[in-house]
Amino acid sequence: MIRRPARQIAFLTLLCCLALALSHAATNYTIALANPEQHLLEVQIILPEGSARRELQLPVWNALYQVRDFAQYVNWVRAKDRAGRALAVRELDKSSWQIAGAEAGAVVEYQIFADSPGPFGAQFNSHHAFFNLAQVLMYPVDARNAPMVVRFNQVPEGWHIATPLPSAPEGRYNAESYDRLVDSPVEIGDFRESDFDEGDAHYRVVVDADPVDYDMEQISAMLRKIVAAATIWMDDRPFDSYMFLYHFPRGPAGGGMEHAYSTAIAVNANVVTRAPEVLASVTAHEFFHLWNVKRIRPQTLEPVDYTRENYTRALWFSEGCTSTAADIIQLRSGLLDERHFEQELASGIGEFERRPARLTQSAEESSLDAWLEGDAYYRRPERSISYYNKGELLGILLDLVVREASHGQASLREVFRWMNQNYAKKGRFFSDSDGVREAAEAVSHTDLRWFFAKYVAGTEEIPWNDFFRGVGLRLVEGKSSTADAGFTASRNFDGPMAVSAVTAGSEAERAGLQTGDTILAINGKPAGQESSEEMAQFTGGETITLKVRSRRGGDRELTWKVGSREEVSYELENVENVTAEQRARRTAWLMGEAHIPQATHPN
Ligand SMILES: [Zn+2]
Repeated sequence: MIRRPARQIAFLTLLCCLALALSHAATNYTIALANPEQHLLEVQIILPEGSARRELQLPVWNALYQVRDFAQYVNWVRAKDRAGRALAVRELDKSSWQIAGAEAGAVVEYQIFADSPGPFGAQFNSHHAFFNLAQVLMYPVDARNAPMVVRFNQVPEGWHIATPLPSAPEGRYNAESYDRLVDSPVEIGDFRESDFDEGDAHYRVVVDADPVDYDMEQISAMLRKIVAAATIWMDDRPFDSYMFLYHFPRGPAGGGMEHAYSTAIAVNANVVTRAPEVLASVTAHEFFHLWNVKRIRPQTLEPVDYTRENYTRALWFSEGCTSTAADIIQLRSGLLDERHFEQELASGIGEFERRPARLTQSAEESSLDAWLEGDAYYRRPERSISYYNKGELLGILLDLVVREASHGQASLREVFRWMNQNYAKKGRFFSDSDGVREAAEAVSHTDLRWFFAKYVAGTEEIPWNDFFRGVGLRLVEGKSSTADAGFTASRNFDGPMAVSAVTAGSEAERAGLQTGDTILAINGKPAGQESSEEMAQFTGGETITLKVRSRRGGDRELTWKVGSREEVSYELENVENVTAEQRARRTAWLMGEAHIPQATHPN
């Protein structure tokens, strides 16, 4: 539906009056950019009148499914009444405080340290400020769903503010609730901004990076393709404006954070230049999240409990199948071709098949255990699988199963659209894997309990070729010689690269590398998300130099020769004598359409 201009103006006026009327009852936040060198923010919260005792809570988690205890950064908390008289502040537990004598309202102030880089963090330095607000702002426990107002003070000369929050006079930004407030990232600094319209929606593109490291027009062209492909595929656009917020640091980076009306993405500057498809892939994933997880949302994540872990079995779908949808969006928009898609699919299967934990940890269990991902041991191949990896593969298999079961009448697209109509649009939440099964069964009119029992809740070996046959493909297992540096390392989303195992008797062990060492640099380059990709490029006999920091502190440089070993690898090939029907099914599959109308087909 297109909103007519006259009605829009009346609507806006009404909204403004409403905002003014509500601002008295709202919780008012001011974040002062007090000291960039020390990364210190000063937060003031003005609580409206209400009950005498008020409780303030700082979330223990947000953005990542990991408890990060943001309260560790709070230096002090104090409170006063509206007349300036001190009020008693009592700490209730490590993340909550009680204010007494606040019946006429209160002013609470605290100082908080912010220096975690990336889209999941909060950082303030002399270059910029970026806020995941849940990491910085306490909420009044009795008014979390009431309106919130935030403003920023002591903003350095020449810095601007970018956020998807609606702005109001006097530098205020409004949010209908705390949840909406903290679903809105904020960038303050000397960034560049561009915008475009596509299909009646307005898109803002904010980039904080060295201008030599990217081309704004290229990025906008890529974004136009992604947003057009995604909204057409979903036949929905549940927003009027949306913001892409990018950081392209020269050092380690990697990751994107989804929000209902925006996304914040960080990709290493080298990767942006050398491999723009990585930027497209992260962006398509985060953009699709505006449906899957932000609006098509599992009941187990609602209402959010900011005080402890929120256990859900649905991340294989909410994260993994978001990647499947992102693949389809890239295929449809021409940002990914069939050959690369099939190569990546085969390499994703290899990644899964090489993890012994595929036989002991299900996709649902991996989702529940997301809260352990911060620990290096947990990330070992014998301990865990990835719900991103298996979830993306399950999305592909579910797509093929639904196509087969419905005789080409439905696909993964219909599953998502059904969940959008029956859950998101009705303000309801789905019940984890059962909710996905309900949708898949509704669009295919078949019983799919077997699929979910074996591969989602269970750990049965996946008979890949049974699934791929319908589209004329088969998985071929081979052995390839791969470089073996003698250790495995992994990295938490926002953390450093840590050595999780050193192979006994390897050159790495002889060089002195130890489990638990932090890798600072590989061959002179800072270690980041792109390191594993770079390490995959090594060949046997090459020299590797690692700069590491041991657990007891102290940096050292280690050099040794990379070995090699045989590894199982996979490729997808055409089956012998691909039939016309298999070809047609493959075309439909790669387009994310249930079926492609045949030009030769009568009528
Ligand atoms: Zn995601």
